[in-house]
Amino acid sequence: MTVRLFKNAYLERMTYMPIYLFLPVWLAAIVVVFIYSLPQPFFHGLFLYVSGYLTWTLTEYLGHRFFFHFNFSSESGRKLIYVIHGNHHELPKDKLRNMMPLSITIPLAILIWLLPMPQAVVRERRFSVDF
Ligand SMILES: [Zn+2]
Repeated sequence: MTVRLFKNAYLERMTYMPIYLFLPVWLAAIVVVFIYSLPQPFFHGLFLYVSGYLTWTLTEYLGHRFFFHFNFSSESGRKLIYVIHGNHHELPKDKLRNMMPLSITIPLAILIWLLPMPQAVVRERRFSVDF
């Protein structure tokens, strides 16, 4: 059972993230990032893994706490929050919406990659490998 969020079928499909799509996409992403990061000194890789895990956990918590549950006064704001996250609380066992859909994940990943911090980490890695 799922909640219909958009009348347009294409937009509706863009809100789904079934497990059979999640697993191969994220497995491919993990393999690509792992290969891209080689060779990596062990402690540098461990530091990047732990700092990335902590940063993402904090970001996810803060986003959930302060954005996904923001109490908009306008009707359009409440609809936005419902489409983004509120439907998940209405039907928490919806198998098509248990994870962030690729229509959001891919642009978000590109935005995060364009931030100065990931670029600096890559520059440092290349520096440490080259010298
Ligand atoms: Zn929530």
